Amino acid sequence: MTTDAAIEFEHLHCAHNYHPLPVVISEAEGAWVTDVEGRRYLDMLSAYSALNFGHRHPELVAALTDQLGRVTLTSRAFHNDQLGRFCSDLARLARHDAVLPMNSGAEGVETALKLARKWGYEKKGVPDGEAEIIVCAGNFHGRTTTIVSFSDDPEARDHYGPYTPGFVTVPYGDVDALTAAITDRTVAFLVEPIQGEAGVVLPPTGYLQAVRELCSARGILMIADEIQSGMGRAGAVFACDLVDVQPDVRILGKALGGGLLPVSAVTADWPVLGVIAPGQHGSTFGGNPLAAAVGIKVVELMETSGLADRSRRLGEHALATLRGANLAGIKEIRGSGLWWAIELDGTGRTGREVSLELLGRGILAKDTHTWTIRFAPPLVIDEADLDHALETIIDVLATPPGDTAP
Ligand SMILES: *Cc1c(COP(=O)(O)O)cnc(C)c1O
Repeated sequence: MTTDAAIEFEHLHCAHNYHPLPVVISEAEGAWVTDVEGRRYLDMLSAYSALNFGHRHPELVAALTDQLGRVTLTSRAFHNDQLGRFCSDLARLARHDAVLPMNSGAEGVETALKLARKWGYEKKGVPDGEAEIIVCAGNFHGRTTTIVSFSDDPEARDHYGPYTPGFVTVPYGDVDALTAAITDRTVAFLVEPIQGEAGVVLPPTGYLQAVRELCSARGILMIADEIQSGMGRAGAVFACDLVDVQPDVRILGKALGGGLLPVSAVTADWPVLGVIAPGQHGSTFGGNPLAAAVGIKVVELMETSGLADRSRRLGEHALATLRGANLAGIKEIRGSGLWWAIELDGTGRTGREVSLELLGRGILAKDTHTWTIRFAPPLVIDEADLDHALETIIDVLATPPGDTAP
């Protein structure tokens, strides 16, 4: 099958809710993928950080395969022998008492929102139905009706109303605005420690620490959405660890499933997570033994492989290399760990045009918000492969449009 034929075929009966780059992947291993025509590409996106451990990490595949041969799904109507261990291991990693397992990231966020509201009514004494949750401008937390209700991206939000009330938006990185937005009804502040979809936007120095102090002082929950920033991506196990901040609630997903399955979770201490009682929240697949077996191995890799340190070390090298190239036409190069964005200055090629040129040179990356290209290689990437990618990126950006080498 050719690339064009495969794309046309997919287009016929698959909803057009994405605009992918024109490459049809049929195999993958580590940081490399192969397309239907046998061409190889270096994956510098990692499925938006779901592939932090690379494609088909042998230990993760082994954990999955082993569990496939035993039991895959029980529902929570019964216990399974993997869930207890998964929750215990993940709680240790998150330094929280307990875990509520779900599947997709958006479900994890929904879980945290429900948890915060219920906690607000039952522990904080907010009048029922009046809880407010503060969120940030430029946020991305998923695609459910409630979550898009507090998105400020028209594409994500328009024509999906009526919208869920109870959310207040403040500028990201602005402690004074957050302080001013807190009322007696505020139950939580939901924040990405580094905004991923916005284009790897780092908060100002001291922001997360100030947020932590403010949330404690005003008795509201600090909820960190680490679905994309967590699991080593930003150069620490959790991006909040970079500034020694422990949120009240963590939301994890993406890499928590090792790139094999959708696995998400909310972690918190019992005084918070304990407000949810039997029958009050759940998911048929959440906490299934297959996902739990993979999650156990993911936590083990996170604790023993040194991948978070590797991410920090190689990330510093990557940023220094890109900045050192002194490229023209760039507004900003920013990042943390093996996670960076190049924002073009808006006068030349768009992010998509650059991504297409990179694709032609065997590098997979994706644009966001027209002028930004985001990079997030698997944390297991070979140093030589990373250097090859950096060289190619610099070469593409240094070559004026229309002057591309064959
Ligand atoms: C991807 C993402 C989500 C949503 O996860 P899905 O698995 O796509 O539902 C939520 N929050 C952040 C920060 C994300 O990057």
